Amino acid sequence: MTRLALIMAMQVEAVPVIAALGATTVPPPTHLGPLPGRLYQSNRDGVDVTVAVNGIDPRHGVANIGTQPAALTTWATALHIQPDLIVSIGAAGGWAGRGAAVGDLVVSDGPVVYHDRRIAMPRFDDYGVGFYPSLPANRLAAALDAKLGTVTTSNSLDETDDDRRMIAANGGDAKEMEAAAVAWVAEMFGIPFVAIKAITDLVDSPTATADQFDANLDIATARLARAAQDLISFASATPLTDFGS
Ligand code: SAH
Repeated sequence: MTRLALIMAMQVEAVPVIAALGATTVPPPTHLGPLPGRLYQSNRDGVDVTVAVNGIDPRHGVANIGTQPAALTTWATALHIQPDLIVSIGAAGGWAGRGAAVGDLVVSDGPVVYHDRRIAMPRFDDYGVGFYPSLPANRLAAALDAKLGTVTTSNSLDETDDDRRMIAANGGDAKEMEAAAVAWVAEMFGIPFVAIKAITDLVDSPTATADQFDANLDIATARLARAAQDLISFASATPLTDFGS
């Protein structure tokens, strides 16, 4: 493994990761046209690491969370950097009822799915869920002191009754807003993909998700910063074929 791309949604999530890696800002690839993201790079343990952050929406003044910026940032990063591995890394919700606690780290296990793309037509139903492959990564999870789990994506922070039904059908341990889009682009490029998510909030808690997110973001981002460092140490010593068994 020589080149690693970490795709992140929010600058506030990314700052501790960028600091922990000693990454510095690099110019975006302007020849590709306008792009939503920002790029940071460092070399650690012989691995060239690029952190791509989805940037700020210029009209709304908030982070470009969600699937469209994630897909564009991943596409540009894949083309520009040609990474050996693409990682969707960031915050996520979990379920206490499925054993999650705030600050837990989840590594993707099996396909990444959508839980808000309901298309009740033959074949489009499966297309909607996506089932994007993730690299077998049980050894990586052990090295990161993380759990393995199903990562499930939508473009909403809340969980509707319909979402809940789809999550029950396809599983869900980490609920977030980017991984399936990143995994879709990675599959298109034929680049292995893994998601690493730190739990900021519990979906089945009575406390509002946004309040939990704000209260727990520092815990989760500190966990992500440590995970990014551990990932690079692991990746520098381990071929991708040995990330899992
Ligand atoms: N309240 C925050 C917005 C957080 S949006 C703010 O004001 O800045 C949620 C971001 O964290 C998304 O990028 C998403 O991937 C992730 N996330 C964390 N918990 C989530 C949940 N329960 N559902 C969906 N996405 C979640």
